[in-house]
Amino acid sequence: MKVYKFGGASVRNADGVRNLHKIIAGEHGLFVVVSAMGKTTNALERVFDGLRKDDRKAALAEVEALHAYHAEIIEGLWHKPQQLESVEELFAELQQIAASAEYRDGDAELWYDRIVAFGELISTRIIAAYLSYAGVSCSWIDMRKAIRTEQRHKDASVDIEASAPLLREAVEKAAADVVVGQGFIGGAPDGTTTTLGREGSDYSAAVAANILGAESMSVWKDVDGILNADPKIFPDAVKIEELNYLDTIELAYSGAQIIHPKTIKPLQNKNIPLYVRPFGDKRKPGTVIRGSSSSVKVPILILKKNQVLLTVRSRDFSFVLEERFASIFSLLERFRLKTNLINNSAVNISLCIDDSWHIDEAVNALHDEGFDVMKISDMELLTIRGYNSSLFERYAMARNVFVRQSTQTTVRIVRKHQEEER
Ligand code: ASP
Ligand code: MG
Repeated sequence: MKVYKFGGASVRNADGVRNLHKIIAGEHGLFVVVSAMGKTTNALERVFDGLRKDDRKAALAEVEALHAYHAEIIEGLWHKPQQLESVEELFAELQQIAASAEYRDGDAELWYDRIVAFGELISTRIIAAYLSYAGVSCSWIDMRKAIRTEQRHKDASVDIEASAPLLREAVEKAAADVVVGQGFIGGAPDGTTTTLGREGSDYSAAVAANILGAESMSVWKDVDGILNADPKIFPDAVKIEELNYLDTIELAYSGAQIIHPKTIKPLQNKNIPLYVRPFGDKRKPGTVIRGSSSSVKVPILILKKNQVLLTVRSRDFSFVLEERFASIFSLLERFRLKTNLINNSAVNISLCIDDSWHIDEAVNALHDEGFDVMKISDMELLTIRGYNSSLFERYAMARNVFVRQSTQTTVRIVRKHQEEER
């Protein structure tokens, strides 16, 4: 058994889906994990925003646009206007939610998951139908029933032990050469839909590979493999041939958009190699990630955007690490805030956090617990592994730097967002 994962960019139009068919043609014993098409998840987040802000008109307009976008892909695949019943049903359900769901703020995460999950449900329906139409022995499975997560919405972890019998049974029952399932989504013990965090399809694929005892997992991307930097931001990016699991986790955690940070553990536990391969050319080797690899010879630059810098100080001047650490972090956890870097002095703690709609609520709660908080938005976190003096000079000493932390191998910089690097 092998696991292939296709991201949203690779199936953003009919040509992409046809290319997916080319890549999987002739395979037997393949489990295919697919994301939502193109930027569908972003659009679904706007549908959710429409509910949250009670702007139903905006929510419905987004659904309408998504319907048209997918209809065009279907038409491109069948070379004629074509209605897929399963897809029409999903859109009808989504439209119903956008128009008349009784949304309550207390259930925000629940609604978020329910809404954004449509992206993967729709994409896999289209792709499975197209593969069958193209003559592939193919079966669609519902990962909400096969992947059991913890009881937590929007960023749930998978309970692999509980999922294993469910997924194995679903794949067995499917009895097809190629089984297609959704990335990014699962089901909670209470039966509601959950999602695994943005870009979570890689994690879904890794979980499936673990459970199915796959010989390998491949992620098909629109790049040649893993690069040492985002070429859109840093010039002279080069491809890395091989990486080990540990370095990959560090990179992913720092915000490298190569792979979801949770992807590696399920693979590492079963020693399954992960290939990151170019979607456009099946013959190119891409990058391989496994237990051990030769060391990486180039510095790696990772930029994590959409950060907020909070500086928290106890109003009574308590020592922050000794006396208030636990209360600050349990509060951040309560508001689902993800901390990427911590910097402290005696009475201050600075936290670089993913921007989120809960930040202001958390700031208010911190106030109520006796803290003064300073918030700086529009920040970004730059991590450079294997830095040298010229990179340090150029990035760590720049004028827009607010926090800098360095070890022998790695420097991390919290800086004000800037548009252009070159
Ligand atoms: N569709 C989801 C997202 O865009 C999951 C994924 O692409 O991995 O975040
Ligand atoms: Mg995506």
